[in-house]
Amino acid sequence: MEETRFGNLVFIPGMGCGKYPFCNSLYIDDKKKAIIDPASDESYLRKLARGKKVDIIINSHYHEDHIAFNYLFPEAELYVHEAIGTCFKSYNSFLDYCGLLDSKYRAEWDDLFLNRFHFEERTPSVEFGDGDLLIFGDTKLRVIHTPGHTIGHCSFHFPDQGILFMGDLDLSRFGPWYGDRVSDIDQTIQSMRRLLEIPADIYITSHETGIIRGDITEMVETYLNVITQREKKILEFLERPRTVHEIVERWIIFKRELQPRYFFEFAERGMIIKHLERLIRNGNIGTEEGKFYFISSSDKT
Ligand SMILES: [Zn+2]
Repeated sequence: MEETRFGNLVFIPGMGCGKYPFCNSLYIDDKKKAIIDPASDESYLRKLARGKKVDIIINSHYHEDHIAFNYLFPEAELYVHEAIGTCFKSYNSFLDYCGLLDSKYRAEWDDLFLNRFHFEERTPSVEFGDGDLLIFGDTKLRVIHTPGHTIGHCSFHFPDQGILFMGDLDLSRFGPWYGDRVSDIDQTIQSMRRLLEIPADIYITSHETGIIRGDITEMVETYLNVITQREKKILEFLERPRTVHEIVERWIIFKRELQPRYFFEFAERGMIIKHLERLIRNGNIGTEEGKFYFISSSDKT
């Protein structure tokens, strides 16, 4: 796929339809040149690096499929949200935010992050906050903190172009992802709804389609409905008390067991736990002796 230019903004499609391990990048080709999430197309990014055409890297969040080629731009300044600066400064903090610090598959994770995705500790030059306005010349970007997928996850609004970069609130068929220790389902919903309030004509997502024009209201409802469907399946499975292990083995999120298992089981478990915590908070389920059980409405007197 070719790049798509919107004035000073250039959409760089990720390899493999922008699916993991790649994402789509957005390049700001202005007086100050910036790349959002350089993990799209290695040869395109290497060309930018050779031409010294990147002054600033902006990462929407700390996930490996968004930072994979940060290392090609060692002289660029790094801009990230203030809640996740620590994930870039310290590998252990990154693992901790993911929920992987004590993983029994630490060797596999280290190999993935350090070797395959080139994670390098790096101190951000700028840690921005919600509402901050970043100016690159003619191009202005407004930061919108949209936590949930991870804390510190950000979307970026270009008001003059009517373009909204939504990051991993990606409107994919898979639905929202919230598998890290610092992920949150309710925040994901709130963030998505907040993005609907932002005036835009063109929406850029980090994965798959990448460029969406027009009204996204229906797509957002379909996307958020995946959360409801997952929750419904969990409640159905709790027809009798079950352990977390049993629920994870049901593969409700990914629909079937995927390989490599350490990788997908981590995400399945992380997301199931977020659902169980939420269902407890909402009084839908209870827990006793390490098992989770359904509370029918007639019991809630
Ligand atoms: Zn992500």
